[in-house]
Amino acid sequence: MKTKILKIDPIEPNKAAIGEAADIIKGGGLVVFPTESVYGIGADAFNAKACSDIFKVKGRPSDNPLIVTVASLDQAMEIGDIPGDYLDSIKRVWPCPLTFIVKNITDLPEEVTAGLDTVALRMPAHPVALELIRESGTPIAAPSANLSKKPTAVNAQQALRYFDGKVDCIIDSGPAFFGLESTIIDLRTFQLLRPGPFTIDELEKAFGKRPDPGDVARGSRQADVAIAPGTKYAHYAPDTKLFLYEGDVEDLSKSMRAIEIPQFAFIGSNESCQVMHMTGCQTMALGKRGRPYEIAKGLYDGLIALDSAKVGFGIIESFAEDGIGLAIMNRIRKASSNNTFRGLDGLLGMLQENGLYLDAHSVSRSE
Ligand code: AMP
Ligand code: MG
Repeated sequence: MKTKILKIDPIEPNKAAIGEAADIIKGGGLVVFPTESVYGIGADAFNAKACSDIFKVKGRPSDNPLIVTVASLDQAMEIGDIPGDYLDSIKRVWPCPLTFIVKNITDLPEEVTAGLDTVALRMPAHPVALELIRESGTPIAAPSANLSKKPTAVNAQQALRYFDGKVDCIIDSGPAFFGLESTIIDLRTFQLLRPGPFTIDELEKAFGKRPDPGDVARGSRQADVAIAPGTKYAHYAPDTKLFLYEGDVEDLSKSMRAIEIPQFAFIGSNESCQVMHMTGCQTMALGKRGRPYEIAKGLYDGLIALDSAKVGFGIIESFAEDGIGLAIMNRIRKASSNNTFRGLDGLLGMLQENGLYLDAHSVSRSE
């Protein structure tokens, strides 16, 4: 299959180009498109064959349901039973990177809901996404544009690397605005299932209730029950082994300069990258330390770049867990499979466990 690339302005989408992409959706094809959170891979949510193609192309486990994107609250209400108490608040906040789990009241194909009696609904705040859904005349099932378990594409070039020849069309509208997947909240229990760009503070302000972040949302534990089935899988992980450092970067830089260690890369804030650069490692700078939205936007770029760096392993630093930081750390914990260390000894131990470092002399020197 030849994948068509359509360049569309993110703010003033060209009608003819949107029409072309919408025709592909209507015809049962797959279109990768931008949203304000990340790029999504979309199909007509009522076309079972097209939705099952999404699973095939992504290599997604069949028990992991898809988010259904809509262009209006009315369209959402035709699909899901949205509790009346929440309608005013939703009217105020939508469109935004916030997905609701509600009871499904339509005959959506099982491919979308994975057989659950619920459905995940979202109205994306991106002109291209909204126009595409409107023009297609159908809700669009759209999980994140990544191969299952891999870091999500936040621009069209990254999506092309995953899906060239596997989807009908990729819309290129430049980078996604936030760079992290939407926040997911179960509206029946007001439980946070996945932290995202719509923060807990914003949820409290909009709904007058504050969800408990919980372990699953923080990413430190995998869900053992299928609340948001996606959260039980390892996720967002580069192929290169990644370790999460919780500690002072100056200390780490100093101690790593004192020993010989295989080629590695460091992912972190611009400031921390400067400090770690002195060890001779490659660095992937995500953004300024005091600007968490910059860090969020750079995170998947950094994870994807790690695999191109051709190094033995990667180290990523940790960030404050407030605001969008909760979502950043959720993705980092999953990307590093919770392989966390606090000092050089911890790192060397983990490298040895993973067969990445076998120099017993250097290890004993560090002890
Ligand atoms: P993705 O769009 O690929 O980032 O993943 C969508 C996320 O939404 C996954 O974690 C799914 O498990 C979750 N999800 C989708 N539909 C439902 C649903 N009906 N109930 C609970 N979680 C859902
Ligand atoms: Mg995903």
